[in-house]
Amino acid sequence: MQHFSILSLLRHGLRDHKGWRPQWRAAAPKPGYDAVIVGGGGHGLGAAFYLARDYGLRNVAVLEKGWIGGGNTGRNTTIIRSNYLFDKSSSLYDHAVKLWDGLSQELNYNVMYSRRGVLMLAHNVHDVQVFKRHVHANRLNGVDNEWLTAEQAKAFCPPLNISPDVRYPILGAALQRRGGTARHDAVAWGYARAADALGVDIIENCEVTGIDRDISGKVTGVQTSRGPIACGKIGVSAAGNSSVVMNMAGLRLPLESFPLQALVSEPVKPVVPCVVMSNTIHAYVSQSDKGELVIGAGTDIYTSYTQRGGLHIAQHTLEAICEIFPQFRRLRMLRNWGGIVDVTPDRSPIIARTPVPGLYVNCGWGTGGFKATPGAAQLFAHTIATDAPHALNAPFTIERFRDGYLIDEAAAAAVAH
Ligand SMILES: Cc1cc2nc3c(=O)[nH]c(=O)nc-3n(C[C@H](O)[C@H](O)[C@H](O)COP(=O)(O)OP(=O)(O)OC[C@H]3O[C@@H](n4cnc5c(N)ncnc54)[C@H](O)[C@@H]3O)c2cc1C
Repeated sequence: MQHFSILSLLRHGLRDHKGWRPQWRAAAPKPGYDAVIVGGGGHGLGAAFYLARDYGLRNVAVLEKGWIGGGNTGRNTTIIRSNYLFDKSSSLYDHAVKLWDGLSQELNYNVMYSRRGVLMLAHNVHDVQVFKRHVHANRLNGVDNEWLTAEQAKAFCPPLNISPDVRYPILGAALQRRGGTARHDAVAWGYARAADALGVDIIENCEVTGIDRDISGKVTGVQTSRGPIACGKIGVSAAGNSSVVMNMAGLRLPLESFPLQALVSEPVKPVVPCVVMSNTIHAYVSQSDKGELVIGAGTDIYTSYTQRGGLHIAQHTLEAICEIFPQFRRLRMLRNWGGIVDVTPDRSPIIARTPVPGLYVNCGWGTGGFKATPGAAQLFAHTIATDAPHALNAPFTIERFRDGYLIDEAAAAAVAH
Protein backbone atom coordinates (compact mmCIF):
# COMPACT_ATOMS: atom_id res chain seq x y z
CA MET A 1 0.00 0.00 0.00
CA GLN A 2 1.42 3.39 -0.85
CA HIS A 3 1.79 5.32 2.38
CA PHE A 4 0.43 8.85 2.75
CA SER A 5 2.54 11.29 4.75
CA ILE A 6 3.81 14.83 4.43
CA LEU A 7 7.02 13.44 2.97
CA SER A 8 5.27 11.28 0.38
CA LEU A 9 3.09 14.26 -0.62
CA LEU A 10 6.18 16.42 -1.03
CA ARG A 11 7.97 13.73 -3.02
CA HIS A 12 5.04 13.28 -5.40
CA GLY A 13 4.57 17.05 -5.58
CA LEU A 14 8.14 17.42 -6.81
CA ARG A 15 7.36 14.82 -9.53
CA ASP A 16 4.27 16.69 -10.66
CA HIS A 17 2.04 14.09 -8.92
CA LYS A 18 2.68 11.62 -11.75
CA GLY A 19 3.70 8.63 -9.64
CA TRP A 20 0.53 7.88 -7.66
CA ARG A 21 -0.80 4.34 -8.08
CA PRO A 22 -4.53 3.49 -8.05
CA GLN A 23 -5.64 3.13 -4.46
CA TRP A 24 -7.13 -0.30 -4.91
CA ARG A 25 -6.96 -2.93 -7.66
CA ALA A 26 -9.85 -3.34 -10.11
CA ALA A 27 -10.20 -7.00 -9.09
CA ALA A 28 -11.98 -9.53 -11.29
CA PRO A 29 -14.08 -12.16 -9.51
CA LYS A 30 -12.32 -15.44 -8.64
CA PRO A 31 -14.31 -18.70 -8.78
CA GLY A 32 -14.51 -18.84 -5.00
CA TYR A 33 -13.79 -17.09 -1.69
CA ASP A 34 -13.95 -17.98 1.99
CA ALA A 35 -16.36 -15.10 2.49
CA VAL A 36 -18.23 -12.67 0.30
CA ILE A 37 -19.59 -9.32 1.43
CA VAL A 38 -22.55 -8.00 -0.53
CA GLY A 39 -22.45 -4.20 -0.70
CA GLY A 40 -19.48 -1.88 -1.13
CA GLY A 41 -20.57 0.87 1.24
CA GLY A 42 -18.62 1.86 4.33
CA HIS A 43 -20.16 -0.96 6.37
CA GLY A 44 -19.33 -3.69 3.84
CA LEU A 45 -15.84 -2.44 3.01
CA GLY A 46 -15.11 -1.92 6.69
CA ALA A 47 -16.28 -5.44 7.53
CA ALA A 48 -13.96 -6.85 4.85
CA PHE A 49 -11.06 -4.80 6.24
CA TYR A 50 -11.62 -6.01 9.83
CA LEU A 51 -12.13 -9.61 8.66
CA ALA A 52 -8.74 -9.48 6.96
CA ARG A 53 -6.87 -7.51 9.60
CA ASP A 54 -8.34 -8.81 12.84
CA TYR A 55 -9.44 -12.34 11.92
CA GLY A 56 -6.90 -13.30 9.25
CA LEU A 57 -9.67 -13.99 6.73
CA ARG A 58 -8.08 -12.60 3.57
CA ASN A 59 -9.69 -14.67 0.85
CA VAL A 60 -12.63 -12.26 0.84
CA ALA A 61 -14.47 -10.33 -1.87
CA VAL A 62 -16.68 -7.28 -1.61
CA LEU A 63 -19.30 -7.34 -4.37
CA GLU A 64 -20.80 -3.98 -5.27
CA LYS A 65 -23.47 -3.58 -7.91
CA GLY A 66 -22.44 -0.02 -8.72
CA TRP A 67 -19.36 1.84 -7.58
CA ILE A 68 -18.05 1.74 -4.04
CA GLY A 69 -19.53 4.39 -1.81
CA GLY A 70 -22.25 5.07 -4.41
CA GLY A 71 -24.99 3.99 -2.00
CA ASN A 72 -25.95 5.75 1.21
CA THR A 73 -22.32 6.04 2.29
CA GLY A 74 -21.74 8.67 -0.38
CA ARG A 75 -25.19 10.26 -0.04
CA ASN A 76 -25.53 11.01 3.63
CA THR A 77 -25.14 14.18 5.67
CA THR A 78 -22.33 12.64 7.75
CA ILE A 79 -23.63 13.40 11.24
CA ILE A 80 -21.84 11.44 13.94
CA ARG A 81 -23.15 11.15 17.51
CA SER A 82 -23.90 8.52 20.12
CA ASN A 83 -26.57 10.18 22.29
CA TYR A 84 -29.12 7.36 21.91
CA LEU A 85 -31.44 6.56 24.79
CA PHE A 86 -31.12 2.91 25.70
CA ASP A 87 -28.01 1.37 27.25
CA LYS A 88 -27.65 -1.11 24.40
CA SER A 89 -27.83 1.57 21.73
CA SER A 90 -25.62 4.16 23.36
CA SER A 91 -22.97 1.46 23.93
CA LEU A 92 -23.21 0.40 20.29
CA TYR A 93 -23.02 3.91 18.87
CA ASP A 94 -20.41 5.09 21.36
CA HIS A 95 -18.18 2.17 20.43
CA ALA A 96 -18.26 3.62 16.89
CA VAL A 97 -17.65 7.20 18.02
CA LYS A 98 -14.55 6.02 19.88
CA LEU A 99 -13.29 4.33 16.71
CA TRP A 100 -13.82 7.49 14.65
CA ASP A 101 -11.24 9.17 16.84
CA GLY A 102 -8.33 7.11 15.55
CA LEU A 103 -9.71 6.03 12.18
CA SER A 104 -7.60 8.33 9.97
CA GLN A 105 -4.43 7.07 11.60
CA GLU A 106 -5.61 3.47 11.52
CA LEU A 107 -6.36 3.61 7.79
CA ASN A 108 -3.57 6.08 6.95
CA TYR A 109 -6.32 7.97 5.17
CA ASN A 110 -7.78 11.28 6.24
CA VAL A 111 -11.48 10.70 6.89
CA MET A 112 -11.72 14.29 8.14
CA TYR A 113 -13.50 13.44 11.36
CA SER A 114 -14.40 16.78 12.87
CA ARG A 115 -15.59 16.83 16.48
CA ARG A 116 -17.51 20.04 16.17
CA GLY A 117 -20.42 19.15 18.45
CA VAL A 118 -24.02 18.16 17.69
CA LEU A 119 -26.70 20.48 19.04
CA MET A 120 -30.26 19.08 19.22
CA LEU A 121 -32.82 21.85 19.61
CA ALA A 122 -35.85 21.67 21.90
CA HIS A 123 -38.91 23.67 20.86
CA ASN A 124 -41.59 22.64 23.34
CA VAL A 125 -41.98 21.19 26.80
CA HIS A 126 -42.07 17.64 25.47
CA ASP A 127 -38.74 18.14 23.65
CA VAL A 128 -37.19 19.58 26.81
CA GLN A 129 -38.30 16.59 28.87
CA VAL A 130 -37.19 14.05 26.28
CA PHE A 131 -33.77 15.62 25.71
CA LYS A 132 -33.11 16.02 29.42
CA ARG A 133 -33.96 12.35 29.83
CA HIS A 134 -31.45 11.55 27.09
CA VAL A 135 -28.81 13.73 28.77
CA HIS A 136 -29.26 11.88 32.08
CA ALA A 137 -29.38 8.43 30.47
CA ASN A 138 -26.28 9.14 28.37
CA ARG A 139 -24.30 10.44 31.32
CA LEU A 140 -25.17 7.35 33.34
CA ASN A 141 -23.63 5.39 30.46
CA GLY A 142 -20.50 7.53 30.35
CA VAL A 143 -21.58 9.18 27.09
CA ASP A 144 -21.11 12.95 27.04
CA ASN A 145 -24.28 15.02 26.61
CA GLU A 146 -25.25 18.26 28.29
CA TRP A 147 -28.26 20.52 28.55
CA LEU A 148 -27.91 24.13 27.34
CA THR A 149 -30.31 27.04 27.80
CA ALA A 150 -31.35 28.88 24.65
CA GLU A 151 -28.78 31.59 25.39
CA GLN A 152 -26.02 29.00 25.92
CA ALA A 153 -27.04 27.31 22.66
CA LYS A 154 -26.74 30.63 20.85
CA ALA A 155 -23.34 31.26 22.39
CA PHE A 156 -22.26 27.85 21.02
CA CYS A 157 -23.88 28.45 17.62
CA PRO A 158 -24.18 32.24 17.06
CA PRO A 159 -26.39 32.24 13.93
CA LEU A 160 -29.25 30.51 15.80
CA ASN A 161 -32.43 32.54 16.02
CA ILE A 162 -33.56 32.32 19.66
CA SER A 163 -36.27 34.96 19.37
CA PRO A 164 -39.42 33.86 21.28
CA ASP A 165 -41.62 35.33 18.53
CA VAL A 166 -41.49 32.43 16.11
CA ARG A 167 -43.72 29.43 15.52
CA TYR A 168 -41.36 27.07 17.35
CA PRO A 169 -39.09 29.05 19.70
CA ILE A 170 -35.86 27.43 20.88
CA LEU A 171 -36.26 26.56 24.57
CA GLY A 172 -32.86 24.93 24.98
CA ALA A 173 -30.70 22.25 23.42
CA ALA A 174 -28.84 19.04 24.15
CA LEU A 175 -25.19 19.19 23.14
CA GLN A 176 -22.92 16.25 22.48
CA ARG A 177 -19.50 17.84 22.10
CA ARG A 178 -17.85 14.65 20.80
CA GLY A 179 -20.39 14.50 17.96
CA GLY A 180 -19.53 15.93 14.57
CA THR A 181 -19.01 15.00 10.96
CA ALA A 182 -16.58 13.12 8.69
CA ARG A 183 -15.95 13.00 4.95
CA HIS A 184 -18.20 10.19 3.71
CA ASP A 185 -16.37 9.30 0.47
CA ALA A 186 -13.08 9.16 2.30
CA VAL A 187 -14.53 6.54 4.63
CA ALA A 188 -15.40 4.25 1.72
CA TRP A 189 -12.12 4.92 -0.07
CA GLY A 190 -10.02 4.55 3.08
CA TYR A 191 -11.54 1.18 3.96
CA ALA A 192 -11.35 0.00 0.33
CA ARG A 193 -7.68 0.89 0.09
CA ALA A 194 -6.81 -0.71 3.41
CA ALA A 195 -8.81 -3.89 2.70
CA ASP A 196 -7.29 -4.18 -0.78
CA ALA A 197 -3.81 -3.92 0.70
CA LEU A 198 -4.63 -6.96 2.85
CA GLY A 199 -5.67 -8.98 -0.19
CA VAL A 200 -9.43 -8.39 -0.25
CA ASP A 201 -10.89 -8.25 -3.78
CA ILE A 202 -13.14 -5.23 -4.31
CA ILE A 203 -15.35 -5.97 -7.29
CA GLU A 204 -17.44 -3.13 -8.63
CA ASN A 205 -20.27 -3.42 -11.19
CA CYS A 206 -21.04 -6.86 -9.81
CA GLU A 207 -24.65 -7.26 -8.72
CA VAL A 208 -25.63 -10.22 -6.58
CA THR A 209 -28.71 -11.77 -8.16
CA GLY A 210 -29.07 -15.01 -6.23
CA ILE A 211 -27.89 -16.92 -3.17
CA ASP A 212 -27.03 -20.61 -3.57
CA ARG A 213 -27.60 -23.12 -0.77
CA ASP A 214 -26.92 -26.83 -0.40
CA ILE A 215 -29.43 -29.47 0.61
CA SER A 216 -28.92 -28.69 4.32
CA GLY A 217 -29.75 -25.03 3.65
CA LYS A 218 -26.20 -23.75 4.15
CA VAL A 219 -24.98 -21.09 1.73
CA THR A 220 -22.58 -22.26 -0.95
CA GLY A 221 -22.21 -19.19 -3.12
CA VAL A 222 -23.79 -16.30 -4.93
CA GLN A 223 -25.02 -15.72 -8.46
CA THR A 224 -23.88 -12.38 -9.82
CA SER A 225 -24.05 -10.28 -12.95
CA ARG A 226 -20.43 -11.37 -13.46
CA GLY A 227 -21.05 -15.08 -12.99
CA PRO A 228 -21.37 -17.49 -10.06
CA ILE A 229 -18.99 -17.19 -7.11
CA ALA A 230 -18.63 -19.97 -4.54
CA CYS A 231 -18.18 -19.04 -0.88
CA GLY A 232 -18.58 -20.46 2.59
CA LYS A 233 -19.96 -17.31 4.22
CA ILE A 234 -22.00 -14.36 2.98
CA GLY A 235 -22.28 -11.04 4.83
CA VAL A 236 -25.03 -8.80 3.50
CA SER A 237 -24.51 -5.07 4.03
CA ALA A 238 -26.80 -3.72 1.34
CA ALA A 239 -28.65 -0.92 3.22
CA GLY A 240 -31.86 -0.02 1.33
CA ASN A 241 -31.64 -3.21 -0.73
CA SER A 242 -31.10 -5.55 2.22
CA SER A 243 -34.57 -7.05 2.12
CA VAL A 244 -34.22 -7.68 -1.63
CA VAL A 245 -30.92 -9.52 -1.16
CA MET A 246 -32.11 -11.47 1.89
CA ASN A 247 -35.19 -12.55 -0.05
CA MET A 248 -32.79 -14.40 -2.36
CA ALA A 249 -32.18 -16.79 0.54
CA GLY A 250 -35.87 -17.01 1.33
CA LEU A 251 -35.66 -14.71 4.36
CA ARG A 252 -38.20 -11.97 4.93
CA LEU A 253 -36.85 -9.14 7.12
CA PRO A 254 -38.85 -6.63 9.16
CA LEU A 255 -37.63 -3.74 7.00
CA GLU A 256 -39.19 -0.97 4.99
CA SER A 257 -37.18 1.02 2.44
CA PHE A 258 -37.83 4.74 2.06
CA PRO A 259 -36.16 7.51 0.07
CA LEU A 260 -34.29 9.99 2.26
CA GLN A 261 -32.90 13.13 0.73
CA ALA A 262 -30.31 15.79 1.35
CA LEU A 263 -29.34 19.04 -0.30
CA VAL A 264 -26.49 21.54 -0.28
CA SER A 265 -26.46 25.30 -0.68
CA GLU A 266 -24.05 27.48 -2.56
CA PRO A 267 -20.82 27.87 -0.57
CA VAL A 268 -20.52 30.69 1.95
CA LYS A 269 -17.90 31.75 4.50
CA PRO A 270 -17.78 29.68 7.72
CA VAL A 271 -20.98 30.48 9.62
CA VAL A 272 -22.32 27.28 11.24
CA PRO A 273 -19.66 26.05 13.67
CA CYS A 274 -21.39 22.80 14.68
CA VAL A 275 -24.14 20.40 13.61
CA VAL A 276 -27.64 21.64 14.42
CA MET A 277 -30.63 19.31 14.48
CA SER A 278 -34.26 20.01 15.16
CA ASN A 279 -36.51 16.99 15.37
CA THR A 280 -39.68 18.99 15.89
CA ILE A 281 -39.51 21.31 12.92
CA HIS A 282 -37.58 18.75 10.97
CA ALA A 283 -34.26 20.14 9.90
CA TYR A 284 -30.60 19.48 10.36
CA VAL A 285 -27.67 21.37 9.04
CA SER A 286 -23.89 21.56 9.13
CA GLN A 287 -21.34 23.32 6.96
CA SER A 288 -18.85 21.50 4.77
CA ASP A 289 -15.21 22.53 4.46
CA LYS A 290 -16.08 23.91 1.02
CA GLY A 291 -18.58 26.24 2.71
CA GLU A 292 -21.79 24.61 1.49
CA LEU A 293 -24.58 24.18 4.01
CA VAL A 294 -25.30 20.45 4.13
CA ILE A 295 -28.98 20.00 4.86
CA GLY A 296 -30.89 16.82 5.54
CA ALA A 297 -34.59 16.36 4.98
CA GLY A 298 -36.92 13.68 6.31
CA THR A 299 -37.90 10.40 4.72
CA ASP A 300 -40.70 10.28 2.19
CA ILE A 301 -43.86 8.90 3.71
CA TYR A 302 -44.17 6.03 1.24
CA THR A 303 -41.81 3.15 0.53
CA SER A 304 -39.86 3.29 -2.71
CA TYR A 305 -36.56 2.35 -4.33
CA THR A 306 -36.05 5.61 -6.23
CA GLN A 307 -32.95 7.45 -5.13
CA ARG A 308 -34.69 10.79 -4.88
CA GLY A 309 -37.29 12.21 -2.53
CA GLY A 310 -40.42 14.33 -2.87
CA LEU A 311 -40.05 18.07 -3.50
CA HIS A 312 -42.51 18.98 -0.76
CA ILE A 313 -40.33 17.17 1.81
CA ALA A 314 -37.33 19.33 0.88
CA GLN A 315 -39.48 22.47 0.90
CA HIS A 316 -40.73 21.65 4.40
CA THR A 317 -37.16 21.26 5.60
CA LEU A 318 -36.05 24.54 4.04
CA GLU A 319 -38.94 26.36 5.72
CA ALA A 320 -37.69 24.97 9.03
CA ILE A 321 -34.09 26.00 8.29
CA CYS A 322 -35.22 29.54 7.46
CA GLU A 323 -37.02 29.74 10.77
CA ILE A 324 -33.98 28.64 12.78
CA PHE A 325 -31.55 30.66 10.64
CA PRO A 326 -33.45 33.57 9.02
CA GLN A 327 -30.20 34.86 7.52
CA PHE A 328 -30.12 31.84 5.16
CA ARG A 329 -33.33 32.86 3.36
CA ARG A 330 -31.46 34.28 0.39
CA LEU A 331 -29.12 31.31 -0.09
CA ARG A 332 -29.58 29.27 -3.23
CA MET A 333 -29.63 25.49 -3.14
CA LEU A 334 -27.15 23.88 -5.51
CA ARG A 335 -27.87 20.14 -5.53
CA ASN A 336 -30.18 17.60 -4.00
CA TRP A 337 -30.20 13.82 -4.09
CA GLY A 338 -31.67 10.85 -2.28
CA GLY A 339 -30.74 7.46 -0.92
CA ILE A 340 -32.78 4.42 0.07
CA VAL A 341 -32.81 3.81 3.80
CA ASP A 342 -33.78 0.50 5.40
CA VAL A 343 -35.91 1.11 8.47
CA THR A 344 -36.83 -1.41 11.18
CA PRO A 345 -39.98 -1.09 13.31
CA ASP A 346 -37.95 -0.08 16.40
CA ARG A 347 -35.51 2.15 14.48
CA SER A 348 -32.55 0.08 15.68
CA PRO A 349 -30.25 -1.93 13.43
CA ILE A 350 -29.78 -5.67 12.97
CA ILE A 351 -26.21 -7.06 13.07
CA ALA A 352 -26.64 -10.76 13.32
CA ARG A 353 -26.45 -14.35 12.19
CA THR A 354 -29.55 -15.45 10.34
CA PRO A 355 -31.50 -18.73 10.41
CA VAL A 356 -29.66 -19.64 7.17
CA PRO A 357 -26.26 -21.18 8.06
CA GLY A 358 -23.39 -19.11 6.66
CA LEU A 359 -25.57 -16.04 6.01
CA TYR A 360 -25.09 -12.89 8.10
CA VAL A 361 -26.77 -9.50 7.88
CA ASN A 362 -25.96 -5.96 8.91
CA CYS A 363 -28.93 -3.74 8.09
CA GLY A 364 -31.75 -1.62 9.43
CA TRP A 365 -29.52 1.41 10.05
CA GLY A 366 -32.19 3.49 8.39
CA THR A 367 -31.43 7.17 8.47
CA GLY A 368 -28.52 6.92 10.90
CA GLY A 369 -25.91 4.32 10.03
CA PHE A 370 -23.06 6.49 8.80
CA LYS A 371 -22.09 7.41 12.34
CA ALA A 372 -21.87 3.71 13.18
CA THR A 373 -19.71 2.73 10.22
CA PRO A 374 -16.45 1.72 11.96
CA GLY A 375 -18.21 0.11 14.92
CA ALA A 376 -20.82 -1.74 12.89
CA ALA A 377 -18.20 -2.97 10.42
CA GLN A 378 -16.00 -4.25 13.21
CA LEU A 379 -18.86 -6.01 15.02
CA PHE A 380 -20.15 -7.47 11.77
CA ALA A 381 -16.68 -8.86 10.99
CA HIS A 382 -16.60 -10.40 14.47
CA THR A 383 -20.02 -11.99 13.94
CA ILE A 384 -19.04 -13.43 10.55
CA ALA A 385 -15.62 -14.68 11.62
CA THR A 386 -16.66 -16.28 14.89
CA ASP A 387 -20.21 -17.25 13.88
CA ALA A 388 -21.36 -15.53 17.07
CA PRO A 389 -22.25 -11.95 17.95
CA HIS A 390 -20.01 -9.68 19.98
CA ALA A 391 -21.54 -8.62 23.33
CA LEU A 392 -22.23 -5.16 21.86
CA ASN A 393 -24.35 -6.42 18.96
CA ALA A 394 -25.85 -9.45 20.71
CA PRO A 395 -29.18 -7.65 21.38
CA PHE A 396 -29.49 -6.46 17.77
CA THR A 397 -30.91 -9.70 16.38
CA ILE A 398 -33.68 -10.41 13.89
CA GLU A 399 -35.40 -12.55 16.52
CA ARG A 400 -36.09 -9.53 18.75
CA PHE A 401 -39.05 -8.73 16.49
CA ARG A 402 -40.44 -12.19 17.17
CA ASP A 403 -39.65 -12.26 20.90
CA GLY A 404 -40.55 -8.65 21.68
CA TYR A 405 -37.16 -7.45 22.95
CA LEU A 406 -37.38 -4.25 20.94
CA ILE A 407 -34.90 -1.40 21.33
CA ASP A 408 -37.11 1.54 20.57
CA GLU A 409 -34.94 4.44 19.42
CA ALA A 410 -37.67 6.20 17.44
CA ALA A 411 -37.23 9.33 19.57
CA ALA A 412 -33.47 9.39 19.11
CA ALA A 413 -33.78 8.84 15.37
CA ALA A 414 -36.87 10.99 14.92
CA VAL A 415 -35.53 13.63 12.54
CA ALA A 416 -33.27 11.02 11.04
CA HIS A 417 -29.64 10.61 12.04
C1 LIG B 1 -29.79 11.52 2.47
C2 LIG B 1 -29.23 10.68 3.58
C3 LIG B 1 -28.72 11.30 4.70
C4 LIG B 1 -28.17 10.54 5.74
N1 LIG B 1 -27.58 11.18 6.79
C5 LIG B 1 -26.98 10.48 7.76
C6 LIG B 1 -26.28 11.16 8.80
O1 LIG B 1 -26.18 12.37 8.82
N2 LIG B 1 -25.71 10.39 9.77
C7 LIG B 1 -25.80 9.04 9.79
O2 LIG B 1 -25.30 8.42 10.71
N3 LIG B 1 -26.43 8.36 8.79
C8 LIG B 1 -27.01 9.05 7.78
N4 LIG B 1 -27.65 8.40 6.75
C9 LIG B 1 -27.72 6.94 6.78
C10 LIG B 1 -26.41 6.34 6.29
O3 LIG B 1 -26.04 6.92 5.06
C11 LIG B 1 -26.51 4.83 6.13
O4 LIG B 1 -27.09 4.24 7.27
C12 LIG B 1 -25.14 4.21 5.94
O5 LIG B 1 -24.38 4.96 5.02
C13 LIG B 1 -25.28 2.80 5.47
O6 LIG B 1 -24.02 2.33 5.04
P1 LIG B 1 -23.91 0.98 4.26
O7 LIG B 1 -22.48 0.79 3.94
O8 LIG B 1 -24.64 -0.07 5.01
O9 LIG B 1 -24.82 1.25 2.97
P2 LIG B 1 -24.50 1.75 1.50
O10 LIG B 1 -23.44 2.78 1.46
O11 LIG B 1 -25.83 2.10 0.88
O12 LIG B 1 -23.92 0.45 0.84
C14 LIG B 1 -24.73 -0.62 0.42
C15 LIG B 1 -24.27 -0.99 -0.96
O13 LIG B 1 -24.89 -2.21 -1.34
C16 LIG B 1 -24.98 -2.18 -2.74
N5 LIG B 1 -25.92 -3.21 -3.15
C17 LIG B 1 -27.25 -3.25 -2.94
N6 LIG B 1 -27.78 -4.35 -3.50
C18 LIG B 1 -26.75 -5.04 -4.06
C19 LIG B 1 -26.65 -6.25 -4.77
N7 LIG B 1 -27.73 -7.00 -5.03
N8 LIG B 1 -25.43 -6.66 -5.19
C20 LIG B 1 -24.32 -5.92 -4.94
N9 LIG B 1 -24.37 -4.76 -4.27
C21 LIG B 1 -25.56 -4.32 -3.82
C22 LIG B 1 -25.44 -0.75 -3.03
O14 LIG B 1 -25.17 -0.38 -4.37
C23 LIG B 1 -24.65 0.04 -2.01
O15 LIG B 1 -23.48 0.62 -2.55
C24 LIG B 1 -28.21 9.12 5.69
C25 LIG B 1 -28.74 8.49 4.56
C26 LIG B 1 -29.22 9.26 3.50
C27 LIG B 1 -29.77 8.56 2.28
